[in-house]
Amino acid sequence: MISIEDAQRTVLERISTVEGEEVPLLQALNRVTTEDHISPWDIPPADNSAMDGYAFCRATTADRLQVTGFLSAGEVRLTPVPAGEAVKIMTGAPVPPGCDTVVPVEEVEVEGTSVRILSDIKEGRHLRRRGEDIAAGEVALAKGTVLRPQELSLLAAMGKTAVRVHRRARVAIISTGDELVEPGCVPTPGKIINSNSYALAAQVLEAGGEPILLGIAPDTLHDTAEKIRAGTSADFVVLNGGVSVGDKDYVKAAIEELGGSFAFWKVDMKPGKPLAFGEVMGKAVFALPGNPVAAAVSFELFVRPALLRCMGHRHIFRPTVKAFLQEVVHNSATRPHLMRSMVTREEDRYVVSTTGVQCSAKISSLTRGNALMTLPPECSLATGAEVEVMLLDSSFGKSLVEAGVA
Ligand code: AMP
Ligand code: MG
Repeated sequence: MISIEDAQRTVLERISTVEGEEVPLLQALNRVTTEDHISPWDIPPADNSAMDGYAFCRATTADRLQVTGFLSAGEVRLTPVPAGEAVKIMTGAPVPPGCDTVVPVEEVEVEGTSVRILSDIKEGRHLRRRGEDIAAGEVALAKGTVLRPQELSLLAAMGKTAVRVHRRARVAIISTGDELVEPGCVPTPGKIINSNSYALAAQVLEAGGEPILLGIAPDTLHDTAEKIRAGTSADFVVLNGGVSVGDKDYVKAAIEELGGSFAFWKVDMKPGKPLAFGEVMGKAVFALPGNPVAAAVSFELFVRPALLRCMGHRHIFRPTVKAFLQEVVHNSATRPHLMRSMVTREEDRYVVSTTGVQCSAKISSLTRGNALMTLPPECSLATGAEVEVMLLDSSFGKSLVEAGVA
């Protein structure tokens, strides 16, 4: 049996990145550039006013200026402004020749066609210099950058309408089990709904991948192998169920039947011990446990980082924080226990409690939480103990109520 960390390393060492594709700017959100982006021009393109005010030359000026022009954003004045004169200028308008300073409207008194400066304004104030954000020829965004809204802003400012990013990894999702029926059916006795395919597909989407739902494989070697064969047209094959030691668990045998092999098939963790990772027909294959919580937690720990790496990301693990336990917790197992937990903020610190009964078939143990807390084997922790927790989403942020909104 392999540890969680060794299993993660084993997986990540075997994952290569997918190629790039050109997509319209907005479709590149949260994806990774495959090339450097060099700015074709200075940003901003000219010295311009940072305020609504009056542009003038500080050195040649008394505190009284004759206002002889007006410039709004989008307009350019090429003729110099003579000493002793000013032009009224709006934020963003290029500062005309002859001017080196802008005095804000709030700092002057208007007297007919002239203004009197009320403040002790220094030369060069309230100007934004040409190229001070990004200079022409500068690498504004390096290859490998994750494109968040701010990076898309910069690309748009550089005039780009499309960008090359790693394509989305395609993930074939196969659920196995004679007991499964699809949502939309009312299960007859003995049957349950295939909820895992939807959980896993949503996890793929959340990571930026493209899920391909291949449905349910009945518990036979042949059916399981045929589904897996179909799945190898994707970049990853993710199965769930049928990977343990039951009489009708055919996933490992089906992968071997197709000439595949495994790097590991058991991970030292709870939930999710039976978890196989390997290769089949040239594609990475993950065989996750069937219990819904075990499937989701195993995806979180192994498939999600692999997917992110494959799509060019370098920060592939969830953030962790230190939090104070609000209850006594106990792990009697000889394996590390990933307890589903709820992290909240309490003044200047985080606190954490478990989501109650930690049965790996209980989907609600996940829906009631936002974090995973790893308890070492055979270990008890007291209320108030400090633990490290892995945050699965950002629901620990400030709430409407905390913002004073009823
Ligand atoms: P298995 O690993 O195939 O023995 O499945 C373990 C448990 O998970 C059984 O109780 C299954 O009914 C359940 N299970 C397996 N696959 C799914 C699925 N796709 N959706 C929901 N529950 C499942
Ligand atoms: Mg099964």
